[in-house]
Amino acid sequence: MPTTIKRNSAGAESNDLGAGAVYRNEPEFAAAVAGFNTAASMQPDVVVPVWSTGDIRRVVEYAAGIGAPVTVQATGHGYTYPVSSGILIDTSGMRGVDIDVQAGTATVQAGARWSDVHAAAGRHGLAGLVGSSSDIGVVGFCLGGGFPILGRTYGFASDRILAAELVTGDGVLHHVDSREPELLWALQGGKANVGIVASLTIELVHLHRVFGGGIFFPGESAAAVVHEFARWAPTLPVEAGTSIALLRLPADPSIPEPLRGQFVVHLRFAFTGPAEDGDELVAPMRAVSPAIFDQVGDMPYADIDAVHSDPRDAMPYTEGGVLLGAFPEEAATALIEAAGPDSDATLPLVEVRLMGGAYGVGTGAVNGRGSEFFASVVALIGGTQLPEARDEIDRIIGALRPWATGSAVNLNGPAATRSESAALWSPDTVRRLSELRRVHDPAGIIRAGHTV
Ligand SMILES: Cc1cc2nc3c(=O)[nH]c(=O)nc-3n(C[C@H](O)[C@H](O)[C@H](O)COP(=O)(O)OP(=O)(O)OC[C@H]3O[C@@H](n4cnc5c(N)ncnc54)[C@H](O)[C@@H]3O)c2cc1C
Repeated sequence: MPTTIKRNSAGAESNDLGAGAVYRNEPEFAAAVAGFNTAASMQPDVVVPVWSTGDIRRVVEYAAGIGAPVTVQATGHGYTYPVSSGILIDTSGMRGVDIDVQAGTATVQAGARWSDVHAAAGRHGLAGLVGSSSDIGVVGFCLGGGFPILGRTYGFASDRILAAELVTGDGVLHHVDSREPELLWALQGGKANVGIVASLTIELVHLHRVFGGGIFFPGESAAAVVHEFARWAPTLPVEAGTSIALLRLPADPSIPEPLRGQFVVHLRFAFTGPAEDGDELVAPMRAVSPAIFDQVGDMPYADIDAVHSDPRDAMPYTEGGVLLGAFPEEAATALIEAAGPDSDATLPLVEVRLMGGAYGVGTGAVNGRGSEFFASVVALIGGTQLPEARDEIDRIIGALRPWATGSAVNLNGPAATRSESAALWSPDTVRRLSELRRVHDPAGIIRAGHTV
């Protein structure tokens, strides 16, 4: 039985967790565990806010001493499985970003979000490889591979990890860089398997603008738009990234009238080249159907969240994802049948992203190098609807199964068991990650997400 950690009569300080630690059943506990996914079942014994590398090391050392499981949360965008014991390290207060303009790098603290990187790097004409939302934590995103909007141009975000301060499960602080190649490899897509990252140094790219945005098409054009996407997307140059999303939007007053409560198709597009070339590239999609809104144009890189327009308020959801070797017209038909406007589907988002290009190049632990597309599915859930939501996700992913090549740890959703987690990487990657865990975390205390 794992030890249950409680506040003792001498006060929290005496167990090394610090005065800020919040224990289960204390009034502040619900706020202390809250993250972006309000359906997450987060019931650690104690939440420990950390402010420095030293804090993280002290907490992991303490946990290793008593054999308590350790998990970590920065924003809660990546909740993967219920937490029912042990210590939750809360890094949300560690949002420092240090830019080295000469080197073109950012060193971010464990809780920094992509918005923090935009703010610090943008003024130097530098950019980080953000995904669909800059509210996401840089560390969690990058350790999971990180599908950036411009991944075809620049590769997985994990390929840009240069160095890290890493506390392994034995409580040792490692300064990881190319001189510790195996740990560096593991951080480049192996998620939290090798420990808790206190800071990460990533390479930035020189970029201050993109041509991009979203086009909302009416539901009745869904089949035509998705079929054209299947023909058009593979013809794009690597300087362009795109995805197509089937959206069931809520009847929420904050959503503009023509979209509110509607089924719509959302084309997402971003291109690093000149606006005239971008206009030419998007023309075949614009020709398919009149749009409800066409918001594609030149924009500062700092506004790149407008490409996806992801929700920003916390919500209850679960998700699933699948890597695809191709998305031919047969797959478009299968997707429309499973999730289109005339299907029984109820979930708010099904997205198919184009991969290829620079995604295929690199050496880290990330899965999905050879894949050409990634499909992700999000279902909203109330307290008792989880099984139904998972069934619906499985049904839609099942429709794309003929083209499946595996899965990816980011955007994959929960993995209930270690073997489900292990299926997110190749057998050889699992072997290498397991060996690193055996050496650096012999008691197996780090259980922060998908653990092999
Ligand atoms: C709205 C939305 C949009 C998204 N869009 C994209 C996208 O475009 N591309 C993409 O690749 N992913 C995307 N994701 C998935 C997201 O990148 C992952 O879920 C990521 O893990 C979130 O990291 P976080 O720190 O924000 O979340 P958290 O829930 O705080 O952390 C999630 C996990 O990250 C790991 N982690 C976080 N901090 C540390 C640390 N200091 N040390 C070790 N491990 C750590 C742990 O495994 C932890 O369980 C999206 C998710 C959401 C909800």
